[in-house]
Amino acid sequence: MKARTLLLATNNPHKVAELQRLLREQPYRIVTPADLGLALEVVEDGATYAENAAKKARAFAQAAGMLSLADDSGIEVDALDGRPGIYSARYGGQGESDKNRVQLLLLELHDVPRERRGCRYVALIALAWPDGRLESFEGVCEGMVAWKPEGANGFGYDPIFYSPAHGMTVAQMPPELKDRISHRSQATRLAAGVLRSLPSTTRP
Ligand code: IMP
Repeated sequence: MKARTLLLATNNPHKVAELQRLLREQPYRIVTPADLGLALEVVEDGATYAENAAKKARAFAQAAGMLSLADDSGIEVDALDGRPGIYSARYGGQGESDKNRVQLLLLELHDVPRERRGCRYVALIALAWPDGRLESFEGVCEGMVAWKPEGANGFGYDPIFYSPAHGMTVAQMPPELKDRISHRSQATRLAAGVLRSLPSTTRP
């Protein structure tokens, strides 16, 4: 029986699935906004991943009165001076599909040679407590933008995020491999260190 509760401050089902896997060994009962019947849309108008992650974590912590964990993340492409970055979820337009965003990025990079196709995933994980305390953790995963989409796992830009170290895109990786190397897993591991260090009597 896990005595403590942690709320995932996200409505993104892909992030929920990854965070649940990444946190499953932690001594926390992981709950989602849907589990609580909590409908909260946070406007991501911060200038940085850290600001957006803090805003989401705080909004959920306050609304639910629970320790909450938010992720803000994106892909940064060298040849685009770091774009789309914090705007990755809205790249190409608000209601666009992941598939179309991938195609749009490939189109923008169609004449960019291999040596300038470097990119990285960045994730900021924020932990917020109902009393206003906040801690955040960063993870970075380096790669290259592939020439065409490959693989069916993951979400978002995974089909074109190629890992030279593994010789495949993130969408070709089994989830356990993505969980070992991803930006989100690195930031979550740091957050898990803090979660484990909290006294178990800390009220959620
Ligand atoms: P946000 O954190 O809600 O602003 O959304 C982050 C966006 O960055 C996602 O919608 C994806 O487009 C992209 N992204 C972040 N992490 C990943 C990942 O692990 N795989 C693929 N795309 C990602």
